[in-house]
Amino acid sequence: MRAVVIHGPHDLRLEDREAERAGPGEVEVAIEAGGICGSDLHYYQHGGFGVVRIREPLILGHEVAGRVVALGSGVDGLAVGDRVAVSPSRPCGACRYCLEGKPNHCLHMRFYGSAMVFPHIQGAFREQLVASASQCHKIADGISSAEAAMAEPLAVTLHAVAQAGSLLDKRVLVTGCGPIGALAIIAARAHGAREIVATDVMAPVLAIAGQVGADRTINVAEDAAALAAYGADKGSFDVQFECSGNDRAVASGIGVLRPGATLVQLGLSGTETSLPMNAVTAKEIAIRGSFRFHAEFGLAVDFINRRRVDLSPLVTGGYPAEQAVAAFEAAADRSRSMKVHLAFGTA
Ligand code: ZN
Repeated sequence: MRAVVIHGPHDLRLEDREAERAGPGEVEVAIEAGGICGSDLHYYQHGGFGVVRIREPLILGHEVAGRVVALGSGVDGLAVGDRVAVSPSRPCGACRYCLEGKPNHCLHMRFYGSAMVFPHIQGAFREQLVASASQCHKIADGISSAEAAMAEPLAVTLHAVAQAGSLLDKRVLVTGCGPIGALAIIAARAHGAREIVATDVMAPVLAIAGQVGADRTINVAEDAAALAAYGADKGSFDVQFECSGNDRAVASGIGVLRPGATLVQLGLSGTETSLPMNAVTAKEIAIRGSFRFHAEFGLAVDFINRRRVDLSPLVTGGYPAEQAVAAFEAAADRSRSMKVHLAFGTA
């Protein structure tokens, strides 16, 4: 069984690993598609992010879908041959935060492909994955594995929408139009936003942002004044989804938020971000962080299965696992990539 393993910055290898067998309540999944996420890229490019560093070889990946090939004992509702999206969220179910209904803050979270704890939690870019049946959500016919693998980042943005409160008839600003920003546009549209304006500094990602539902896109590298104009009369937007982790995007966003607006911060940055606190105070801006998800994964799969969202414009590249390095290089190049997938097996 082969897996995509990071050993250090720019040291990514396809390696053989021992295949696992499904235990009680578990299933064996032949992975078909794995989406490369910003965190996977941080491990590849820098060996980590913030204070998190790779301290042992780590199988990357947490956005995956595949086919059930074996069932452990006591599994109901899944059959061999079912295609499934696999949630990477594995909270313990017993710690104080799990018991409070905040499983994304679990003290013993085993989220795939993470070096936040040691030993690291090995990831899902592998030919074969043993997962709990409860992590596996069936994919409808006609949905590609690559689209289904995007249930994970879609769930991230559905969680962010929940942090914002009702978006019905609201004016929404999305700063940063990588995959999470683009999916935030899709999630906000699905929740009844009146108007969505999206910003970035790259024309290709803004083109996709327009394609998936932004009413207006602004390249703030070329035309910062177009965004600043929304600051008239104390601001225009009810909600900002900040998906870049960039200081200037945070500050320029706060400049165009209305009094009483909500800033939902999804983007993480390598350094701490400073905030224009005087404007936050004077406009009574509410700031909410948003981190991962849990229950929203099932909702994301349901949205995809019922075609309530179309994620296909975000799929910009697919590479066989043997070309993992080329795939990571492509994913890192925002001028030509939105979401790049690795293909495993014969799929
Ligand atoms: Zn827990």
